[in-house]
Amino acid sequence: MKRRPLLFQQLSFFERLFPRRASSKKRTRPVRGQKIKRQKKSNNPFLKEIWCDIRREYFPNRPDLDEYTVYWSNRNQKRTLASCFTEEHRVIVAREMDHPNVHPWLYPLLYHEMCHAFLGDDVPAMRNGKKAWHGKKFKDLEQRHPQMRAFDKWVKEGGWLTAVRSHRTRTAHARRKAETIVAS
Ligand SMILES: [Zn+2]
Repeated sequence: MKRRPLLFQQLSFFERLFPRRASSKKRTRPVRGQKIKRQKKSNNPFLKEIWCDIRREYFPNRPDLDEYTVYWSNRNQKRTLASCFTEEHRVIVAREMDHPNVHPWLYPLLYHEMCHAFLGDDVPAMRNGKKAWHGKKFKDLEQRHPQMRAFDKWVKEGGWLTAVRSHRTRTAHARRKAETIVAS
């Protein structure tokens, strides 16, 4: 997923006026001199421990996978539970998964991402030339995890959506509480 950097001067007049955004959400324009917040790429100790436990259990011959950086997303996610960037050796997990109710699912979820890390680019191409990231080779490896079926079922039957909604409710509640404290 490498994007060639596009120079500002190369953009058309309209593109300069209306830059495309990755998300439709309104984002505040950074004020001059203000630092743009970038996601810090350092391990979350809780996630990293699970990651290394899984690695030792399922991929004992690949201690190099311990080098991955594993951390929570800093934005709300709706579709993506986690992403694995094999070139950059990092895994991002949706922050909606950071609740004791759903923590048990982090094991099959991180195992899924580790299968990507384990295989790297070594997956066959499909007829259309695209890589079969979730092809047979991947699925066979993925199904070694005893919780995988239950996890897929949990996602399909709305468990993930519930986690997303609960996260929103929690953060909205925390915000209201903070506002009340400031106001009083
Ligand atoms: Zn995947």
